[in-house]
Amino acid sequence: MLCFILCTHVEAWLGRGFGRCVTLSGRNVPVHRKQRRGCNMPDEMARPLIRGRGEGGGSRHLEASMSESGDPVVGILGTGDFSRSLARRLVASGYQVVVGSRTPKRSVALFPEEAEVTSQMEAASQADLVFVAVYPEHHSTLVDLKPTLAGKTLVDVSNGLRINQEGPSNAEHLADLFPESSVVKGFNTISAWVLQTGPRDGSRQVFLCSDSSKAKRSVMQLCRRMGFVPVDMGLLSSSLEVENLPLYLFPSWRIPVLCTLSLFIFFYLYNFIRDVLQPYITEGKSVFYKMPIETVNVTLPSVALVMFSLVYLPGLCAAFLQLSRGTKYNRFPKWLDRWLITRKQFGLCSFLCAVLHAIYSLCLPMRKSARYKLLNMAQQMKGDSWDDGEVWRMELYLSVGIMALGLLSLLAVTSLPSVANTVNWREFSFIQSTIGYCALSMATLHTMLYGWDRAFDPAQYRFHLPPTFLLVLILPLVVLLGRLALFVPCVARRLGQIRRGWEKSRHIRFTLPDDDCRNGMEDVSHV
Ligand code: NAP
Repeated sequence: MLCFILCTHVEAWLGRGFGRCVTLSGRNVPVHRKQRRGCNMPDEMARPLIRGRGEGGGSRHLEASMSESGDPVVGILGTGDFSRSLARRLVASGYQVVVGSRTPKRSVALFPEEAEVTSQMEAASQADLVFVAVYPEHHSTLVDLKPTLAGKTLVDVSNGLRINQEGPSNAEHLADLFPESSVVKGFNTISAWVLQTGPRDGSRQVFLCSDSSKAKRSVMQLCRRMGFVPVDMGLLSSSLEVENLPLYLFPSWRIPVLCTLSLFIFFYLYNFIRDVLQPYITEGKSVFYKMPIETVNVTLPSVALVMFSLVYLPGLCAAFLQLSRGTKYNRFPKWLDRWLITRKQFGLCSFLCAVLHAIYSLCLPMRKSARYKLLNMAQQMKGDSWDDGEVWRMELYLSVGIMALGLLSLLAVTSLPSVANTVNWREFSFIQSTIGYCALSMATLHTMLYGWDRAFDPAQYRFHLPPTFLLVLILPLVVLLGRLALFVPCVARRLGQIRRGWEKSRHIRFTLPDDDCRNGMEDVSHV
């Protein structure tokens, strides 16, 4: 593999004049770059290694110097895990790599033969673009290299230990230490492992930001050649956000997961009290065997339906808030904003509970307890036990449940970014809104069919607690009725106007470019 890479790149390298010679036997022999510059390009010697301020060495926004071919010679400071993986990938991508270490002799064996391992000063002077692969607390130990690195691009790959909200970021700190270099933040979200295995596994996106657009462009080019996808994050002020990216732990999942767990605990305890504790206390009947499967299987659909209603409730709250305010330009309260952006996570948690409910339900007849119950019932029954009403209830209950799960699966699949990217906005909102409400209606009907007429049976109110399905139905019915209210023509029309910019208490004025039209103002209020 290495030979192949060397062979494919050797011709290009010869043309580019990079630090490598090919012997008659065809073997690649690493050569010190300075020697090659000396023997092949004598006028190169005239070029100062460290540029003066007048030649572009005076500010942080200076551009990186390039080798003759246009490809930068890439330096890496540090010889740790990240440096080793980066060096391998850079060499495989055809770059000339020079690694700077405090103890080059100790580290040289760890790097590919093609990379030159030398002192930090030597690497800094040879390279045009330098990756700083040392921990941020050691950045200050590199200040001796400041004059050598002036005018060059420094790529800060460092990560923090914890989320930094205040700043400054490691990259900004590095830029303060090296004001005459152009600092680019990036590659911190790519692990040494991904660098080593190549971008076919793991994340391909590399977030980059810098105050120097030219330095950023050269790092982007390098990034693409390594097989990654550069994402421009703007100026170096974004580096704090870029550094925090790998430290977040499912930030958008925290509330939905907490909600799911809380609902699960609540409904489980509720069902336990009603179905297990009540028969034990009132009749001395031990049905604790119900706890692992039956109680869980009544809890899961309850959580699924409430969570699914919570996907659509914030949209309704937002609509009614806009109607009552008569404008869409007032900001929603923070809690509603956060709720609206985590609807996908609420939906996926609901989907998980619904799928688990389906699997549990399919497994119900496999239990010994179910078989004993069936045998006992068969022995007790005399004559025809066919109950038409019960048969119909069960058929409808199962059919509607399967439909609800099917639609819910469709919603879950279309929420995947790769699938969502293949549909346009109208298609996406049709699936998530119209089909979503159909799924909610189906799931609600499924629960109603489960309850049937049992809501009117006093025996169902154990310990004076209403049956679980009654509790669970409150929220989806509120959401569905709220949605129906928005369909009322006058309400729908007003909401449509508000969403197109109409405001109850304000006249919208457009400034026209010419003064000859009503002094530049035209009253188009109540559009
Ligand atoms: P590491 O294995 O501990 O290597 C750090 C290197 O820094 C050392 O090998 C050392 O090389 C060099 N160094 C220079 N001055 C130093 C000093 N004063 N004290 C100690 N070491 C010094 O760390 P790493 O995992 O490669 O990470 C390096 C940087 O990459 C960190 O900022 C990290 O946040 C970032 N990063 C790492 C990963 C990853 O997967 N590992 C991923 C993203 C970002 P010499 O002794 O040869 O000088």
